[in-house]
Amino acid sequence: MRFDILTLFPGLFTSVFAESIVGRAQADGLVEIHLHNIRDYTTDKHHVTDDTPYGGGGGMVMKAEPILLALDDILGAELVAAQKATGEVQVPVILLTPAGRPFDQPTARRLEEYGRIVLICGRYEGVDERINQLAVTHELSIGDYVLSGGEIPAMAVVEAVTRLVPGVLGDMRAVIDDSHSSGLLEYPHYTKPAEVRGLGVPDVLTSGDHARITRWRREQALLRTRERRPDILARAALSEQDERFLSGLPDAESSEPG
Ligand code: SAM
Repeated sequence: MRFDILTLFPGLFTSVFAESIVGRAQADGLVEIHLHNIRDYTTDKHHVTDDTPYGGGGGMVMKAEPILLALDDILGAELVAAQKATGEVQVPVILLTPAGRPFDQPTARRLEEYGRIVLICGRYEGVDERINQLAVTHELSIGDYVLSGGEIPAMAVVEAVTRLVPGVLGDMRAVIDDSHSSGLLEYPHYTKPAEVRGLGVPDVLTSGDHARITRWRREQALLRTRERRPDILARAALSEQDERFLSGLPDAESSEPG
């Protein structure tokens, strides 16, 4: 999997990508991350990357041309133009923006399947809209709040997609059970010791009965999802057994703490 990241602050990524799973994935040759400083693609003597907005108002807007030159250099001008003209995407060109579609686990899975993606990190008030018209294939938001730049959102996308690259995680069961992978939030975990400050572990987990453990975990996932994210429960694929379990519960409202 290859990631190309366009940013004004490449130094922000260094330690985050050097460590842990993303660091190991690069060392193992499973993932390549290329950082591109947008400032390197300016053509004026002062290397200006932003300017005041047309129509007035506060803040600065990132100029289109340095970003477009960077994309031409990284992907080739023909591919960038062809993707926009035909709608057939070979390499997603993703703008991180709070005005984008929500980035979620199904999107991470689809992005992993491309094998290569480009991420554009905005700053200031954002980027000149013509970037979207000329090059961007996807606009993604990591949540309904505003950060100062697209670097942390880009890190989130890289990390979520990297976890899905075959071979990156030793045990792929972890990915299958992860929250959102099955359309539900994940069940609670416990590890040793058996007692922590007077609190034990649910008996079922030490019973050795794998069928009961699987069912308990599924029910816990259903309970958590119903309580915390009824919006995703409504879209989840549920078995008849799941439906029976949920219909036997008291109303969600009455189980909320007061
Ligand atoms: N004026 C913009 C708006 O209201 O949509 C916000 C600009 S924000 C201060 C600067 C940059 O941070 C954006 O261009 C984007 O790249 C990034 N950013 C901030 N919040 C984000 C979010 N929730 N998801 C993805 N990118 C975000």
